[in-house]
Amino acid sequence: MCMLKIEDYIRDIPDFPKPGILFRDITPLLESSEATETCVQQLLAMIEGQKIDKVVAIESRGFFFGILLAQALKVGFVPIRKPGKLPYKSFKEPYNLEYGMDALEIHEDAITEGERVLVHDDVLATGGTARAACNLVEKLGGKVVQCNFLIELKSLKGIQKLKNQEVRTLLKY
Ligand code: IMP
Repeated sequence: MCMLKIEDYIRDIPDFPKPGILFRDITPLLESSEATETCVQQLLAMIEGQKIDKVVAIESRGFFFGILLAQALKVGFVPIRKPGKLPYKSFKEPYNLEYGMDALEIHEDAITEGERVLVHDDVLATGGTARAACNLVEKLGGKVVQCNFLIELKSLKGIQKLKNQEVRTLLKY
């Protein structure tokens, strides 16, 4: 039985990247191979018994655990990136930020019709990012089996944007 607590490896940074924001920093977690391994095992436990064909993760902090999950599940990994970063033909999905808009992109051949997809990111905040990622997967004909996160910032109510998805999170603040 592992007594390691993931929350002990999350560092709170006040006023980053802007005044008034409390940033949950996962770099101490990444610096510990034991904590990282525990995290991977706990994320895998959340999708136990489900058939997954691809892991899709969101730039950039989603990539850290996304690739580890894909390797553990022995399935392919697909990056979702900010506009202009992917080299091949891509689909774009715009989404709202607190102030303004942003967008995410996915390679148009990254997912095959009917593939069962796990969407992963480090943090669920307002939910706009994860919603856009799910929309991209669905645009390609994929089925989002689960969205999972290391951290949910509950006060930002991101879960409301993912109402039609199965959402699982390791830590809630
Ligand atoms: P949302 O679209 O508001 O849900 O924001 C989620 C995105 O912002 C994720 O890709 C996160 O990486 C990033 N994010 C928001 N807040 C934090 C935080 O406190 N720590 C780390 N990443 C964050």
